[in-house]
This record gives sequence, C-alpha cells and structure tokens, in this order.
Amino acid sequence: MKFLIVEDEVKTGEYLKKGFTEAGFIVDLAVNGLDGHHLAMTESYDLIILDIMLPDIDGWSILRALRKAKKTIPILLLSALGSIDNRVNGLELGADDYLVKPFAFAELLARARTLLRRGTNALVSNQLQVADLVLDVLKRRVSRGQSKINLTSREFVLLEFLMRHQGEVLPRSLIASQVWDMNFDSDTNIIDVAIRRLRAKMDNDFEPKLIHTVRGMGYMLEVSDEN
Ligand code: CA
Repeated sequence: MKFLIVEDEVKTGEYLKKGFTEAGFIVDLAVNGLDGHHLAMTESYDLIILDIMLPDIDGWSILRALRKAKKTIPILLLSALGSIDNRVNGLELGADDYLVKPFAFAELLARARTLLRRGTNALVSNQLQVADLVLDVLKRRVSRGQSKINLTSREFVLLEFLMRHQGEVLPRSLIASQVWDMNFDSDTNIIDVAIRRLRAKMDNDFEPKLIHTVRGMGYMLEVSDEN
C-alpha cells in the first residue's frame, strides 16, 4: 500500500512519513502543493493525506483537481483549519475524511486503515452490509435479516449513500447534493422527510437502530456503541 503525504511543515511531514513507514506503508512525501499536485495526478496511490494550507497550490485546489479528473482515490484532509465550515467544505469537495491538527497519530492511522478497507471493499463487492442490513447494488435489493425491504429508487440511492459513508456525519447539504443532485434552500425539509420514510421501512421495526440524527449537523448510519 502506497501513500502520498502532502505537508509543507517539515517536522510534521517527517513525523508522518516515519510513522506510516513503521506501520508498513510505502510513503511519498511532497513538501509543497506543486509537487503534491503533480505526484497525485501522475502516480498511483492507495491513499492521499493532504494538508490544506500550502504555500503554492493549496489543498482545496489539489482536491478539486483530483475529483475533477475523476480520480476516486481516498483523500484524507489533515489541517489546522478545524471549523465546521471547513470540514463540510472538505467533504463536499470530495474528501473522504477530515482530521484536525493537532492530532494523535494512532487516530490518523486508524482512519487511514478504515479508508483503505473501504476502498478495497468497494472494488471487490457490490454488496454493502451494516449489521443485518444488506444492500445489493447490482440487484437493487435491500434486506434486514430475513425481511425483504422495498424502497423507491430515491430511497435506495439515499441508503446506499449512507451505507458507503458509514460512521460519518453527513450534513443535509451534502446529502442533497449527492442524492438529489441539487443545492437546496436550507429551510426545505425534503431530506428529513426522506429519512423518516426510509427509517419507517428499514429501521423502526428492527434492532439495532442504524440511522442516527446528529443534532444540528445531519445524519449518520452506524451500529452505535449504545446498542
Ligand atoms: Ca501547512
């Protein structure tokens, strides 16, 4: 597994390179945006760890360029910019994860491994599973345990999106742009209504509950520890 780390702060860059190398990964380190952009566009990596504030081409631009070029490689933004707006912006631009500096290396490593696992699964399997919830992307089938669940095509896309981003808080605006392909007025409750209908079909009568409301932020699908 080969990583690209784009980090202009020398100490942090060396620290990351050493840590991931010791964890058994091959690491390329780019110390500015220009090199990072070039390597990301031309070389093949399993994961990119991307700083945002860089002296020449910033991380936002690199992320945008990669997604525009249809490169689906997992990207983890690692930045001192910790506001919700920044994190939401990162996810909306197509980042797979966002970790705020200062960070614990153990957490970064765990998140990196999660992204790698997800990437591999997406390649080998068209079947997504969370607890007893199974979604077959190709057969367009959903079930929980022995129960077959009938969804509309929009509900299916919504559930697939939630499952592919298992364990991540998904803002309504992101769900709207990814599932409805639109930017909507924040007063609109279209997302909440759709989630309610989806829950009625695949969550209300089952345990554990999988779709969770994250107050003031959005929704998340996961097997919660509390269950
Ligand atoms: Ca920086």
